[in-house]
Amino acid sequence: MEPMTIREILEAVHGSLLGEFGDLNRTVARVETDSRTIHAGSLFIPLSGERFDGHAYINSALEGGAAGCFTQRERESYLPGKFYIKVDSTQRALRDLAKYYKAKFPIPVIAITGSVGKTTTKDMVAAVLGEKYNVLKTEGNLNNEIGVPTTLLRLKPEHQLAVLELGMNHAGEIDYLSALVEPDVVLMTNIGDSHIEHFGSREKILEAKSEIFHHAKPGALAVLNGDDPLLNTLPGKLPFTFLRVGAEAELDYRASDLESDGKSRLTCRVCTPKGAFPVEIPALGDHMIYPTLMAAAVGEHFGLTPDEIASGVLHFAPTKMRMNILHRQDNITILNDTYNANPQSMRAAVQVLSNANGEHKIAVLGDMFELGPLAPALHAGIGEYLGKAGIQCLVAVGELAKHIYTAAQEAGVPQCFYCETKEQAKPVLDELVKPDATILVKASRGMAMEELVEYLLTIT
Ligand code: ATP
Ligand code: MG
Repeated sequence: MEPMTIREILEAVHGSLLGEFGDLNRTVARVETDSRTIHAGSLFIPLSGERFDGHAYINSALEGGAAGCFTQRERESYLPGKFYIKVDSTQRALRDLAKYYKAKFPIPVIAITGSVGKTTTKDMVAAVLGEKYNVLKTEGNLNNEIGVPTTLLRLKPEHQLAVLELGMNHAGEIDYLSALVEPDVVLMTNIGDSHIEHFGSREKILEAKSEIFHHAKPGALAVLNGDDPLLNTLPGKLPFTFLRVGAEAELDYRASDLESDGKSRLTCRVCTPKGAFPVEIPALGDHMIYPTLMAAAVGEHFGLTPDEIASGVLHFAPTKMRMNILHRQDNITILNDTYNANPQSMRAAVQVLSNANGEHKIAVLGDMFELGPLAPALHAGIGEYLGKAGIQCLVAVGELAKHIYTAAQEAGVPQCFYCETKEQAKPVLDELVKPDATILVKASRGMAMEELVEYLLTIT
C-alpha cells in the first residue's frame, strides 16, 4: 500500500482518535488483520468472527510493532506513541478504507462471480491481460468481505488493471463487494448448486450473484457463460453490453475443435467476432473452454492481439490444488483437485479422469459439504455419473460419500471401496495403485483430501 496519513484514514473511515496521540501527519503503509504476523508500522484492524474477537489482540499487535489500530470500543488504557481510531464497525472501516484508497487509482476493474470456476477464470484472465498490462489480481481465493478490500489495499501506481474474484455464501454479500469494487467488466461463470443450502433454488442463487450488477459502472461490459440457461436470461433485462461465450454456435465467443492429449493439455480454436485463432491450454477438462473464452473476450476488449491472448493462455497456471496434474516417475498421474468440491465441479473432474489416457483410472472422492437436505441425492448423482463415465474404480471417503459408493455400485462400477476415514483409505490405495494409473482426488475443503495426494506421492 502507498503510505496514507492518519488524517486521510480518519476521513476515509469516518473515525475519531482516542487517547493522547495527535500527530495526524504520521503515515502507515500496511494494513493487517492478524496480530501474529504483524509488521512494524502497520495499522492493525481487529475483526470479529463467530468464535473470536480481534479486539482481544490489540495490545499484542501494538506491542508487536503495529503503529496503531481501529477499535469499536473505548479502551481502559492507551499505549503511548500508538494511535487508536474509533469506528462503528472494524469490518466496514476496512471496506471504507479500501474504497477510499482505490479511488486514488482510477483503473478498470474486472470482477468475477459465479458458482464454479471463479478462481480458475481469475487466474486465466489475469494471465492473458498480464501479456500487455501490469495486473493486480486476487491472491489465491481471497474473495470475501475481508479478502477483497485487503486485495485492493495492495494497489500500486504501476497497476493498470485489476482482476478480482467475488465470492458469497448469502444474499447481500455480492452487493457489499460490488459497491466496493464498482466493476467496469463483470464475468459470470455459471449458476450451480454450491451453497444451495442457504438459498433453496438456483433462481435465488442467480438473483444473489446478479447483485454484482448493482454497482457496475454505467456502460459496463458483461461476459457470461452462454451455455448456462439461467445466465442466458440476463441479457436484455439489464442495461449493459453482454457477450456470451461457450460451445454453442450462435455465441459471441466460441471454442471449436477441442482436443485433449489426455495427459496435461488441451488445444482448441477460439472463434471471436474478429476472427479465429488456435490456443493451447496447459490444463485438462472440457470446462476449461469457459475461462479461456472469457479471457479472450476480455483480452480483445482491452486491445490484445490473438498472439498475445494465445500466449497468455499458454502461461496460465492454476492456483494450488485446483486440478493440479502431478506426474510420478513410474508414470502414475495424480489429479489433485482437492481444493473444494460441489456437484458441478465433481462431474467436471470425473470427466477429466474419464478422458485421461490409460486403462487404470481410480476416482478417490470424498464428501461435498453445504448441500443441505439435497446432499444424499446429489452425492448419489455422482455415483451414477461414475457409471455413465465408464470409471472402473471408486474409493469413496467420508460419511456423505457413502451415497456415492452405493449409487456407483448400482450403476455397475466394477470396483467400489468405501472408507469412513482417510486413514482407512490408505491401505486400500496401497493395493490399487500400480504403474500407469491415473488417480483423481477430490472433495470439499473440510475433508483436507490433499493428505491422500501426499500419501499417493509416497507409495512405493
Ligand atoms: P470457490 O467458491 O471455492 O472460490 P471457485 O468458483 O473459485 O470456487 P475454482 O476454484 O476455480 O472455483 O474451481 C473449483 C473446481 O471446479 C476446480 O476443481 C476446477 O477444476 C473446477 N472447474 C473450474 N471451472 C469449471 C467449470 N466451468 N465447470 C465445472 N468445473 C469447473
Ligand atoms: Mg475461488
